[in-house]
Amino acid sequence: MGFAIAAAAARRGHDVTLVAGPVALKTPKGVRRVDVVSAREMLEAVADSLSDATGVSRPRVPMAFISTAAVADWRPAKCATSKLKKHQMSGTLKLVRNPDILKEIGQGLRPSPSTLLLVGFAAETDNVLSEASRKCREKGLSFIVANDVTEKGSGFGTDTNRVTFVFPDGTLKRHPLMSKRRVAGAILREVEARAQ
Ligand code: C5P
Repeated sequence: MGFAIAAAAARRGHDVTLVAGPVALKTPKGVRRVDVVSAREMLEAVADSLSDATGVSRPRVPMAFISTAAVADWRPAKCATSKLKKHQMSGTLKLVRNPDILKEIGQGLRPSPSTLLLVGFAAETDNVLSEASRKCREKGLSFIVANDVTEKGSGFGTDTNRVTFVFPDGTLKRHPLMSKRRVAGAILREVEARAQ
C-alpha cells in the first residue's frame, strides 16, 4: 500500500519521500526513497524528512504523513552479530518496546494542525471499526484507513483491499473492494480535500 500511495502521490504532482523497510519493490517514478531496516531507523528517517520539508523557506506548505508500515511493536532486547549456537540460547527471548512512529510524530513534530495531516492504517482481525476509531483518536489522526485482514482479497499479499475511512468524530466512509492503486487514489483525494 505504501508504494501504491507514493506512486499515486507523485503522479498527482506531490513532492514525495517514501521511507521503506526491506522490500523487493521498485521505487516508483518521481519518488525520493529512504531505505531503513529497524523501527528506530524509520522514526529517524521520517522525522528528518518532515523537518527538512518544514524548512523556513516553505513554512506553510501543507504536508501529510501517511503511515502504512506494519511496524513491529516489540524488538529483541539483544541482537547477536553472528549465528548463535543452540547452547547459547535459553529458549526465552527478551523483548523491548519499539517506538510508535505515528504517535511520536503526532506529539512532537507537528508544526501546526493545518500544515501536517496524519493518516494511519489499522489492519485488524476483530472489532475492526471500534479499534480503528480508538487508534484514530489516540494518535491524533485526520483519519485512519481500516481494513479487516481476515476478509478474502483484503490486506496483505493481495493486490486488492476493502477499506473504510474512519474519522475522529466517528464518521465512516466505506469503500468497495478495489485495487490497491484505486485505494491509494481515494486516500490521496481525501488528504487533498483536507489540506485545502
Ligand atoms: O499497529 P497498529 O495497528 O497500532 O498501527 C496503527 C498505525 O500506527 C499504522 O498507521 C502504523 O503504521 C502505525 N504504527 C507506527 N509505529 C508502530 C506501530 C504502528 O507508526 N510501532
